[in-house]
Amino acid sequence: MFLKRIELLGFKSFADKTIIQFDHDITGIVGPNGCGKSNVNDAIRWVLGEQSTKSLRSGNSMSDIIFSGSEFRKPVNLAKVTLVFDNSSRIFDSPFEEIEITRQIQRSNNEASYFINKTPCRLKDINDLVMDTGLGRDSLSIITQGNISGFADAKPEERRSLFEEAAGVAKYKKRKKVSLQKLEKTQDNLDRLQDIIDELS
Ligand code: ATP
Repeated sequence: MFLKRIELLGFKSFADKTIIQFDHDITGIVGPNGCGKSNVNDAIRWVLGEQSTKSLRSGNSMSDIIFSGSEFRKPVNLAKVTLVFDNSSRIFDSPFEEIEITRQIQRSNNEASYFINKTPCRLKDINDLVMDTGLGRDSLSIITQGNISGFADAKPEERRSLFEEAAGVAKYKKRKKVSLQKLEKTQDNLDRLQDIIDELS
């Protein structure tokens, strides 16, 4: 599984539709200060569900990530970013050769919409799809400045969760948690039932 392409439209400094193709093993993005290199990284994290505008180095409202105009260009009303992944090795639990994940936001309603292979979906569906592929929001697929020292300084439990994500057990831990919650609820219902039986007998 690898990221084949990013398509950006109206996201931060990318006013026009911009397609970045990743054809080689290593791709470097170079350019002068402030030209938008880090915005590409922000775009990837945004599609994968980042909800913190601070982490996205943006204003308070999520719609601040929409191109806000420049000396020569009017602001636009829509930001849309698509990540296209090669899925020939079926890392994603999906029969498709390619997986397209899209997030978009309109300035008018400030609400995000998500799509998997052009079909509308919930953020949860994207989280479920990427879980244990190494693409999760807190995974190590994106290593930013400060990550390395953060990892070295992390508490053992925090470090362990990174290993669990990398090893692919995070999915099972999440399912276990949901099952335990259901069991607890069922036990509560049984206790209430027993109370009623005791009252009637
Ligand atoms: P450096 O090399 O200094 O780290 P960079 O190439 O990584 O810079 P970015 O931080 O990615 O640059 O991009 C900053 C640019 O993005 C600034 O020019 C800023 O005005 C522009 N920008 C950020 N948000 C928006 C927005 N919503 N609308 C228009 N332009 C934006």
